[in-house]
Amino acid sequence: MFGFNVLKQSTKSRARAGVIQTAHGPVETPVFMPVGTLGSVKSVTPEELTASGVQIILGNTYHLYLRPGREVISRFHGLHGFMNWHGPILTDSGGFQVFSLAKLARVTAEGVAFQSHIDGSSHLLTPEISIEIQGWLGSDIMMCLDQCTAYPASFEAAERAEETTFDWARRCRDAWRSAGGGHQALFGIVQGGMHQELRRKSAERLAALDFSGYALGGLSVGEPLDLMLQTADFSLPLLPDEKPKYIMGVGRPEDLIDLVCLGADMFDCVLPTRNARNGQLFTADGTLTITHAWHRTDSDPPEPGCACYTCRNYSRAYLRHLFLSRELLAYRLNTIHNVHFFVDFLRRIREAILKDEFEDFKKRFYENREI
Ligand SMILES: [Zn+2]
Repeated sequence: MFGFNVLKQSTKSRARAGVIQTAHGPVETPVFMPVGTLGSVKSVTPEELTASGVQIILGNTYHLYLRPGREVISRFHGLHGFMNWHGPILTDSGGFQVFSLAKLARVTAEGVAFQSHIDGSSHLLTPEISIEIQGWLGSDIMMCLDQCTAYPASFEAAERAEETTFDWARRCRDAWRSAGGGHQALFGIVQGGMHQELRRKSAERLAALDFSGYALGGLSVGEPLDLMLQTADFSLPLLPDEKPKYIMGVGRPEDLIDLVCLGADMFDCVLPTRNARNGQLFTADGTLTITHAWHRTDSDPPEPGCACYTCRNYSRAYLRHLFLSRELLAYRLNTIHNVHFFVDFLRRIREAILKDEFEDFKKRFYENREI
């Protein structure tokens, strides 16, 4: 059921356009995936996501496992039925949130023991349990449990995390295979901090396990931008070209265009949704802060020419008023625009790649930015 085809490879860079086939339909790449942490992309409905051009969303295993949990979600035959989103879903392994949100996370021989950030209850997340949870969530793409290192991480610390990540990846793959694999794909995650030797080792060992796709984890964790791009530039070509390549948790529009140029196919980030709720709107010229006084009587839409529902119907002055009045509609309208901006940005990048004009597109993008 799962498949990936590269339709066009740029002649001037590693940028490429492709299609991923999933049990819930195709995904055209490069693609941006909005984050639906708790079973919703905050403040917008699935219909609004579809109207914004969203093809695939991300769900967080850690949160959904703790609340509402298996009994509730299984009654709806998985996350698709529960949240009424019938397009493709990617779920993370839960590992990142265990290490960043849960209390007292401790790596053991079996997996990682932690206490819920909600009620302090004790849990154990193992590679096998992560695959089991993602199984009942019913996502189209599951991720292997991994251990992400903070920045900076010593060689020794990054090496230990890479070892754990590889061991867990093997166990995830075995659990996935013994569950039958079915219609759900499984991606491996490359770790190794900013150490090229470890990234190479991680990528090569994971490639040998033959996953459905591959992700680079542990990027955008506080390292300088140059080092993030350098690590991605080094690591992406080490992954099999016939599989989708996903950069986790990055980032800004300028990061996305640079990473597409280096050969990345998939992205997720909370930036468009989180910033929308902070009154920050993304535009081709840069970020617009809706609270600024000069938007008080501004009758322009957030981004003139934008085809989203918000820009077709509302002015900056109205959005500013809603935001300053803390009206709930502010979050929804801002989110619709930002999600549309990211999704449409990747759609236009894809179009440019298909015409082999991506590098010109990238040049024009940087010329338009107010830096
Ligand atoms: Zn718009």
